[in-house]
Amino acid sequence: MKNIVVIGAGTMGNGIAHTFAQKNFKVTLVDVKPGNIEKGIETIAKNLDRMLAKEKISEDEKNQTLANISKSTNLSEVAKSADLIVEAATENLDLKLKIFTQMNEFAPENCILATNTSSISITKIAAATSRPDKVIGMHFMNPVPVMKLVEIIKGYSTSQQTFESIFEMSKTLGKVPVEVNDYPGFVANRILMPMINEAIETLYNGVAGVEEIDTVMKLGMAHPMGPLQLADFIGLDVCLAILNVMYDGFKNPKYAPNPLLVNMVMAGKKGVKSGEGFYDYSESKKAEKVAKMFLK
Ligand code: NAD
Repeated sequence: MKNIVVIGAGTMGNGIAHTFAQKNFKVTLVDVKPGNIEKGIETIAKNLDRMLAKEKISEDEKNQTLANISKSTNLSEVAKSADLIVEAATENLDLKLKIFTQMNEFAPENCILATNTSSISITKIAAATSRPDKVIGMHFMNPVPVMKLVEIIKGYSTSQQTFESIFEMSKTLGKVPVEVNDYPGFVANRILMPMINEAIETLYNGVAGVEEIDTVMKLGMAHPMGPLQLADFIGLDVCLAILNVMYDGFKNPKYAPNPLLVNMVMAGKKGVKSGEGFYDYSESKKAEKVAKMFLK
């Protein structure tokens, strides 16, 4: 596999493009919004600069990584020469079904179609294609260039061959892949999201403030980041979408999103990406916080 198409240039898409490009794959970053592609490339450049400043990469590696990335708003065109497409567009079932129908139509027969979905059924997405054996979940963690884990999710029809080639490829990206079966929330979010939701419930009930809750979890449980700050980094809209998928999938009230989370998302407070969530991410503060996390 050499030619990789990444769909969606947001929080995850630009990190996924960065990671593949740094390992010398040829990457095309696709988004419906040209402005988001530009922003994504800027983020990649800034993150490479930080790595360079920390002497984690050389100037040549930085330049080569950027040279390995091209951009497009035309999925049907770039899909034609793809060996692997990784979809990292907005977490929305109808949108993903539409994108997978297009990917299936335009990508070569042997191309593997992966999704970075946090929670949507791989089996359901695969059923929108005529190659469900070549559809798989490749669930990277945020920030992608830093985090080692990739959950490799096998849908009901994913072939062993597809699984093995994506599992091995994840290792060449310097990641640690973990095999997971396709049930709502997979492993990571099935465990993480109830914790984040409970932290929001604790705030909603007035038990403690934002910083107090995060401090308890950081210092008391040795978590590198409190659950409310982590929710801001993930995106509150993404957290809400994942909880809703688990709530619907398991029909269990323990996954019901807290009303405060629902209200914040309706008010446009989505965390780091919108400039405000449980914390304030006005431009200067945002840069400082993201830098801290990236270089952790
Ligand atoms: P985001 O909102 O930051 O970015 C989504 C991008 O997709 C936007 O730039 C949007 O313009 C683009 N997009 C929407 N429709 C499109 C289309 N039809 N074609 C191409 N691009 C399109 O979202 P994100 O946080 O990067 O999440 C992307 C995916 O990754 C979601 O499935 C999410 O569940 C998953 N994920 C997110 C995290 C996280 O921490 N944010 C972690 C793991 C997985």
